[in-house]
Amino acid sequence: MTGLIVLVSFILIFFVPIILYEKFGLFKGFYHDIMGWHEPTDERMFDGCSLHSRCKYCGREIMQDSHGNWF
Ligand SMILES: [Zn+2]
Repeated sequence: MTGLIVLVSFILIFFVPIILYEKFGLFKGFYHDIMGWHEPTDERMFDGCSLHSRCKYCGREIMQDSHGNWF
């Protein structure tokens, strides 16, 4: 039972900020500037093998990898 509480707390501590970041752009200074996670705009472009977009924070051109992450 204690293990379950620890697991749930762990998930909340790690995932809630990520969801807040993706939905509202909170903690941008940490996730975007330090971790390098760019956030795409709605403007998407497919070049035949990968999806391109532009980061809504820094305006850099970014690409989506096969796992759905933007870099
Ligand atoms: Zn960016």
